[in-house]
Amino acid sequence: MKKSELETERLRLLSLANDLAREHWDVDYTGTLVLRDYEWRHQWAAFAWSNDGIKVEIRMSAPTNVKLGPELTRGNLLHELVHWRLWSQGVPCDDRDETFIAECLRVGAPLSHDRYAQKAYEEYMRKVGAA
Ligand SMILES: [Zn+2]
Repeated sequence: MKKSELETERLRLLSLANDLAREHWDVDYTGTLVLRDYEWRHQWAAFAWSNDGIKVEIRMSAPTNVKLGPELTRGNLLHELVHWRLWSQGVPCDDRDETFIAECLRVGAPLSHDRYAQKAYEEYMRKVGAA
């Protein structure tokens, strides 16, 4: 992928992030989005921040996104936005936190495939009496 194509795609994803943030929380996405041009093997996307709050970013990989397709890419972006939203509110936002799982379910974002996250999901569902 050419540099200009990568930047165009990055801006498209950033705009999508804004649309999703407005749709679900009625706010703009205030972080940045970093799009890598190499494939990721072990994860689909990530949310990263620095404690001083200067760095707040969602990271994605362009080749990984192409491989996953638009539907999953959108879902992954929404998942990272849930991390961002809860983090920005000072709410526990780890993949295994109940608050995170509940918000993902509310907005229709996919959960982490991490087995601990899956276990936390099962526990959450038992607790709310839906399983
Ligand atoms: Zn996550």
